[in-house]
Amino acid sequence: MAFLKNLFGFMSKDLAIDLGTANTLVLVKGKEIVINEPSVVAVKTNKYGQEEILAVGQEAKEMIGKTPGSIKAIRPMKDGVIADFNTTEMMIEYFIKKINGGKKLSSPRVVICVPYGLTQVERKAVRESALNAGARAVHLIEEPMAAAIGAGLPVREPNGNLVVDIGGGTTEIGVTSLGGLVISKSIRVAGDQLDMAIVEYIKKKFNLLIGDRVAEMLKIDIGTATKLEEELSTIVKGRHQVKGVLTSVTVTSEDIREAIAAPLAQIADALKNVLEQTPPDLAGDIVENGIVLTGGGALIRGIDKYLSDIVQLPVYIAEEPLLAVAKGTGEALNQIDLLQQTSYED
Ligand code: ADP
Ligand code: MG
Repeated sequence: MAFLKNLFGFMSKDLAIDLGTANTLVLVKGKEIVINEPSVVAVKTNKYGQEEILAVGQEAKEMIGKTPGSIKAIRPMKDGVIADFNTTEMMIEYFIKKINGGKKLSSPRVVICVPYGLTQVERKAVRESALNAGARAVHLIEEPMAAAIGAGLPVREPNGNLVVDIGGGTTEIGVTSLGGLVISKSIRVAGDQLDMAIVEYIKKKFNLLIGDRVAEMLKIDIGTATKLEEELSTIVKGRHQVKGVLTSVTVTSEDIREAIAAPLAQIADALKNVLEQTPPDLAGDIVENGIVLTGGGALIRGIDKYLSDIVQLPVYIAEEPLLAVAKGTGEALNQIDLLQQTSYED
């Protein structure tokens, strides 16, 4: 039978899915990342009151803040909790089917990395949507563990390794040793909160109203956690809060640094907190090995130096930090023995 299946090209493709608060990545076993798109779904309510998908991923993200009344652009995992089960299911099914040209897959095994701290009910919903999309078996893996594996840390050794994954909705911190998470912590302060802080700052300082998308662009283009040798600047357009007219102002990297100082300090506090709870022997390993950063937030200018100055430990940025969790989840798919140690079954 296996022979016939291969002959007709109905091979089951085992999948690793990084279900992030900002981005979802899917990797086919033994292959590259095949999907890397924002975790956004645009839905329209039809005349029967049912929700229909208009777009998923990049196309849907471009609709955020620009939709007319009948269309909603939803980020179902936004805060590291499932705000909307239905939309989350639609999104998972959409991505899984997309790999197979819109058809259900022929019973793949799927490993899904979910934000740490999802409830049992939420994990069940994630599992069931993958089963609905045709999966034969679904394993869930915790984000800090996937991040550590993806960053290339020797998680199976009797050594402490500390990883900080700064994503969109959550920052997840974990200390791994002997294939498990010894300590982990998730806070709802990450890229989104930096964007919100930028919106607020620009409003206060310049009386200018900007949207989240513009704030995110400012963060990426000129944002910095530390002083820069040559400060950057850019022109921002928006609506004047008082006069109501469209206007533009020059914003500098110093502005953005000031704007994001408070949420960054919260991330640093969470890291200090984890270090305080780390057993002495593992703490010794971390002093030696340093701390590794993953997730999109690892790309904030100077974030490594910023955190290193606060905790007085070496801080490194993982290679391709936005892909680390997906790669780690893919690695877990490759190594079932590792998977069984690190994933939890609901
Ligand atoms: P998640 O795993 O929660 O989906 P990601 O690890 O994909 O999140 O990271 C997404 C976050 O990283 C977003 O808030 C995005 O704005 C931010 N980000 C992406 N690239 C950069 C960059 N170059 N500088 C700063 N932040 C970035
Ligand atoms: Mg992530």
